[in-house]
Amino acid sequence: MNTLADFPAEAQLKPQIARRRTFAIISHPDAGKTTLTEKLLLFGGAIHLAGEVAARGERRRTRSDWMEIEKKRGISVSSSVMMFERNGIVFNLLDTPGHEDFSEDTYRTLTAVDSAVMVVDAAKGIEAQTLKLFEVCRLRDIPIITFINKVDREGMDPFELMDQIADKLALELSPVTWPIGMGGQFHGVYNLNTHDWHKLAGDGSTKFGTTERLTGLDDPKLDAAVKPDVLAEFRGQAELVAEAMPKVDMEAYREGHLSPVFFGSALRDFCVADLLDGLSAWAPPPRPQPAGDVAVDPNRDEVSALIFKVQANMDPNHRDRIAFARICSGRFSRGMKLNQVGTGKSLAVTAPIFFLAEERELAEEAWAGDIIGIPNHGALRVGDTLAEKGDLRFTGLPRFAPEILRRVRLGDPMKTKQMRRALQDLSEEGLAQVFRTHLGGDHIVGVVGALQLDVMASRVEAEYKVKIEFEPAPFATARWLAGDPKLVKAFVDVNKSVVADDVDGDPVYLARNAWELNYTREKNPDIRFVEIKEMH
Ligand code: GDP
Repeated sequence: MNTLADFPAEAQLKPQIARRRTFAIISHPDAGKTTLTEKLLLFGGAIHLAGEVAARGERRRTRSDWMEIEKKRGISVSSSVMMFERNGIVFNLLDTPGHEDFSEDTYRTLTAVDSAVMVVDAAKGIEAQTLKLFEVCRLRDIPIITFINKVDREGMDPFELMDQIADKLALELSPVTWPIGMGGQFHGVYNLNTHDWHKLAGDGSTKFGTTERLTGLDDPKLDAAVKPDVLAEFRGQAELVAEAMPKVDMEAYREGHLSPVFFGSALRDFCVADLLDGLSAWAPPPRPQPAGDVAVDPNRDEVSALIFKVQANMDPNHRDRIAFARICSGRFSRGMKLNQVGTGKSLAVTAPIFFLAEERELAEEAWAGDIIGIPNHGALRVGDTLAEKGDLRFTGLPRFAPEILRRVRLGDPMKTKQMRRALQDLSEEGLAQVFRTHLGGDHIVGVVGALQLDVMASRVEAEYKVKIEFEPAPFATARWLAGDPKLVKAFVDVNKSVVADDVDGDPVYLARNAWELNYTREKNPDIRFVEIKEMH
């Protein structure tokens, strides 16, 4: 039998792209994202034994814990993209940073996916971070599949969960699998579409055992194995679902109005395979990517790619970096020359990397939807477009006005040069934003969440051997200045004490408080004070 790879590249283009699913998992800490990720890789055949995360999860992750993880760059890098193949479908799973603070990195990762899986803890329902991330997905029309985790434990009533999710997220839900009892009464999970019954192992634990296909909800095999009251309740619920809740409608899902719901347990292996089947069947293949007024069709012949993430200092001895590029169109092959749009430079991509679950591999070819890592020495920046031909430029990667501003204080003044380098590198990586004031040349660091400050200080010390501290800055908020360049320059000239440059050299206005920002805005109606900067 011929495989796709036997056909010439032109003939492969469409089917190769159509079989790709590039997605992320969004959740609140502790809902089970790490466990589910491992199990997806395991069921997807990418790893052979799931690592133990239970021990770590027993205690809540602390700040220092997280920084330790961050410091071990190897781990966090190899897990930021994971590629695997199952039943002919190629999955690219992108990790959204797992810390509780909200960061731009998360936004940028979500820019590079076509769909997402939302993990919800059955006992807790929708939590704060899930909601925030969901809103980002909605902003970007990213369709969502819901995985309600931990049904092996006592949880909220399934309908109560459905109501809560539907209400809070204004989303129609379509249950695909449903638990037969929960917690102490847990008797496995039933797939309402296939009538597969995922049974317990039967050793007194809540582990998954085998799957049996039943004739339907009335199948006497259920009566033989499940306590009558638990079964009666389950049957009642399943009938209600069939009557009252919509079936999966692919169009409604892809438009973001409806979410298929899987009840399961990542830890106990329930419904991980069903979830992968759902992603294969419904999740969208690579979608057109916005580039100004046009959307770039993934099936275009010419290769184009967007750098959505840069990770510096994977090896602290060499100032190397990996730029993560999402191939947005065409078929990429190793050695290809791509233009870095807007700079006039071109780049021979000789050592692109695929991130597989347990290893990295030289990427000989990649198709739209795939993520490749490109080693470089700082030439590639977040937001860059790489293109085989033409000057299209992908848009939509945002940089947000930071909510917390701090002045950097350097312990040892002899190390100014290293400090500048460190701040520049880490801000290019997107960890925080760094502004340089026009008067005085202070370095001001801006972040969206306070934890980023700790991470920044710890990485500057670990990777650049420079101790820095943060002290209060007299500013509360920052806005990019836009409008007629002459007017912007005039504004900058008379407001030197409250203007700084960002890493790209674009001017930023720093306000002491919201009142001052409003006042300045009113006084300068011809200038726009921009809260979200599109990177280019
Ligand atoms: P993350 O913070 O979202 O990545 O969550 P983890 O995957 O680290 O899981 C948090 C805790 O929940 C860990 O102790 C896991 O062992 C536990 N956990 C994850 N999935 C399940 C599940 O299906 N059932 C039960 N009982 N515990 C689970």
